[in-house]
Amino acid sequence: MLDYHLHLLRHGEDGPYRAESVRAYAAAAAARGVEEICITEHLFRFRQADRLLAGWWDADPDGRLRSQTAAYWAEHATGDLEQYVAAVLGAAAAIEDGDSPPIPIRLGLEVDHYPGRMGEVADLLAGWPFDLLLGSVHWLGAWGFDQMGDPVVDEQWERREVEAVWDAYVAAIEELAATRTADVLAHPDLAKVAGIVPAGDLAPWWDRLAKAAAENGVAAEVSSAGWRKPAAEAYPAAGLLARFRAAGVPVTTASDAHELALVADGADRLRPLLAAAGYTELSGFERRHPSPRAV
Ligand SMILES: [Zn+2]
Ligand SMILES: [Zn+2]
Repeated sequence: MLDYHLHLLRHGEDGPYRAESVRAYAAAAAARGVEEICITEHLFRFRQADRLLAGWWDADPDGRLRSQTAAYWAEHATGDLEQYVAAVLGAAAAIEDGDSPPIPIRLGLEVDHYPGRMGEVADLLAGWPFDLLLGSVHWLGAWGFDQMGDPVVDEQWERREVEAVWDAYVAAIEELAATRTADVLAHPDLAKVAGIVPAGDLAPWWDRLAKAAAENGVAAEVSSAGWRKPAAEAYPAAGLLARFRAAGVPVTTASDAHELALVADGADRLRPLLAAAGYTELSGFERRHPSPRAV
């Protein structure tokens, strides 16, 4: 089992990034039966992303959403990418006295879709020795739709047609996958996060998500994080996971923990989902090259 989606900081919490924290994550994961981890902090936590991308939200016509996202971004983009990379690589390295981490630690990043800007994002990241880049859609325009509890965000959930939300979300995933910036689609059906989903059959959207991953050679993540949200089920839904399997899309497993206590959370609950879909192996990544791992 892998935990290939881990954040070192909670939202609202600041760095610094420390190798000791990464080692503690590895120890916790190992104790909970996970055999390999990848630390995948949000790209938007770093000043390097701020310098490149700040203001991307200006294209949204809704001034309240622009302001809310600008404030969220400013609160988060405080870290140093170099320090983060050094902390993870430092923890991953075997120390001379034999104090190796209990399980392999990979270096990753969770990267959002910035429409029309992914070439620049890829250029920014090309200079770093990442093992894995997760690709995510957390914003539709300037609407950070998974930030439930923020009144500006929640108002949109009340106002928008849920079918239009899914159309926009799936279109963004299709665009992101086509850029081939990321190796793995994180929480692939995140549009359900608030527990509000279109009535009836989701198959047309699931088919498009599976096709986007398969056609672009992108893997998909099976994540326990949805159980901790109003969606109250894993990402992806069983019907979407079956489609990924049918389309030959490899998968990773993940908790999306933002704190030590949640590292490897729900790993055992993911196993039956994988078995039901017919997955007998997972995909590991080193320096962005996939290779098989045990479930
Ligand atoms: Zn995410
Ligand atoms: Zn995440």
